[in-house]
Amino acid sequence: MNRTALKNYSLPELEAWVESRGERRFRARQLFRHLYARQASSWAQCSDLGKAFRAELETETRLDVLELVATDTAVDGTTKYLFALSDGHTIEAVYIPDPPRHTLCLSSQAGCALGCRFCLTGTLGFKRNLDAGEIVDQVCQVQRQLNPVARLTNLVLMGMGEPLANYDAVIRALAILQDPNGLAFSHRRITLSTAGLVPQMQKLGQDSPVNLAISLHAADDAIRTDLMPINRTYPLQTLMAACRQYPTPPRKRITFEYLMLDGVNDGPGQARKLIKILHGVRAKVNLIPFNEYPGAPFASSPQDRIADFQETLLKAHITATVRQSRGAGVGAACGQLVAQYG
Ligand code: SAH
Ligand code: SF4
Repeated sequence: MNRTALKNYSLPELEAWVESRGERRFRARQLFRHLYARQASSWAQCSDLGKAFRAELETETRLDVLELVATDTAVDGTTKYLFALSDGHTIEAVYIPDPPRHTLCLSSQAGCALGCRFCLTGTLGFKRNLDAGEIVDQVCQVQRQLNPVARLTNLVLMGMGEPLANYDAVIRALAILQDPNGLAFSHRRITLSTAGLVPQMQKLGQDSPVNLAISLHAADDAIRTDLMPINRTYPLQTLMAACRQYPTPPRKRITFEYLMLDGVNDGPGQARKLIKILHGVRAKVNLIPFNEYPGAPFASSPQDRIADFQETLLKAHITATVRQSRGAGVGAACGQLVAQYG
């Protein structure tokens, strides 16, 4: 029998499901609390549900939808979790402790169809979209592992996959993760990163106030198209116009991720072009040293060139930070754990 994956349901949907089974509506809130506030690992733990209902849940539903297959912890505490989906595909989530911040980087797809040349996930190709429950369960299962030592405070959709290419499941997962009866993440603590799917970005602006990050990585079309084929469909002018029109809530800014690739996009001319295209956008720039992996077609820019690039942006009054490299030794680049074990 196909068991119902309850982590796919928002609270109103769970209420409808509970009622359709002849149970009282308030049971849904109880279930929701067990699933999310308590990260229950079996229905046997949920004694307030009544024995008969628990027995039904046991046979007819699935509590966990992911199977944790491997973990890998770096000296700085960054931990990769490798999960198997029910059809055998694998995905990863990365926990990054930086107290008081405890961030989890989530996957939205198994693989990715966009084929960015620097990205290991991209070179692995597209397997399938995750459903909402599979996105949400990454948070539940990692939180269960961290209990009671740490509590996740921030979520970033920056793992495997392009979240805006799996729009409906991502929006549904965000609603579940933000529900005050469950994990109760504030939209201020959730960031979605996209390679720049313009129509879905416009939709997201209407549907959700989460923080937006754009993987920019180049300030001219020739270089960006070479790195990211999606730039052919949504070139910089289109992308930046969408950023300018994005309904960024007050006090929020769009984050622009910019990989520092040795000799490719890291010169002073590129920094000046970046300043130009960011004109009129409430922006902050995050410079990301490239995480090298065996066979990678790029190398990271040297530190002094990254510092010069940052300096040029700062002089133009653009907030620019350099991302600390985390997780050394556990294959910190996007998609690496899967390549290692999958
Ligand atoms: N598909 C989305 C989100 C997942 S990728 C996007 O592209 O934004 C998350 C971030 O990791 C992106 O900015 C991506 O460019 C970056 N990334 C991919 N491979 C990397 C590597 N080897 N080193 C550093 N960052 C990498
Ligand atoms: Fe996909 Fe993002 Fe990797 Fe590009 S960088 S291939 S969009 S996951």
